[in-house]
Amino acid sequence: MRKPIIVGNWKMNKTITEALEFVAAVDANVHADADFGIASSFIALNETNKAASKLIVAAQNCHFADNGAFTGEVSVPMLEDINVKFCIIGHSERREMFGDTDETVNKKAKKLIDANITPILCIGETEAQYDAKETETVIRTQLTGSLANLCANCVGNMVVAYEPIWAIGTGKSATKEDAQNCCAIVRDQVKVMYGDDAANKVRVQYGGSVKPDNIVEYMACPDIDGALIGGASLQAASFNEIISKVK
Ligand code: PGA
Repeated sequence: MRKPIIVGNWKMNKTITEALEFVAAVDANVHADADFGIASSFIALNETNKAASKLIVAAQNCHFADNGAFTGEVSVPMLEDINVKFCIIGHSERREMFGDTDETVNKKAKKLIDANITPILCIGETEAQYDAKETETVIRTQLTGSLANLCANCVGNMVVAYEPIWAIGTGKSATKEDAQNCCAIVRDQVKVMYGDDAANKVRVQYGGSVKPDNIVEYMACPDIDGALIGGASLQAASFNEIISKVK
């Protein structure tokens, strides 16, 4: 059985003070039926991680080099040093605005796996690709590049978030049939690349306008093991409602 995993992606939101207020209002509600986490800004990561006892605290990005002349970047050893155990990579906002590619995302995945940090790999198609019925090709191509040359066991331990870009922050969430179908394609592509064990183990999230009102229907889908949640993860009340509905 795969344990569900729900992660809030705060993006460029919340000061350290606000992050700590959220942890104080949410941490005690986390229960053992699923893993629950939030991905905070780099600046709030250390204090948030120290304050959380049940919530997972994830980074939103990392660099693939250990150190060097990369102004403004944060390395995996820096995350290791503050005991971060999960890191989002390849979010569509990073791919669209900050030049992340399947190749750089693959390098980040390797680095994180070597440091025993679980990558949460994001993939998903644009609206134009969806309209052109290219979704499956996009998913398979992104996974082929982003998951290249990893070990089967490592991929089985990862989290993959399928996030159609047209559903992110738009309120226009994918139907549960589309979301299930695409998460099944993710699992099948993992099987093609790394075999049955990895495919059965890898946890696949749906992301894109997930909220308290629709979380239950996504979680009922056989290939959806959780959600990556932006907007609805910012308020403690809304995240608490989601926690209470994932049982
Ligand atoms: P959203 O964001 O829930 O606000 O659509 C999801 C994401 O970007 O991970």
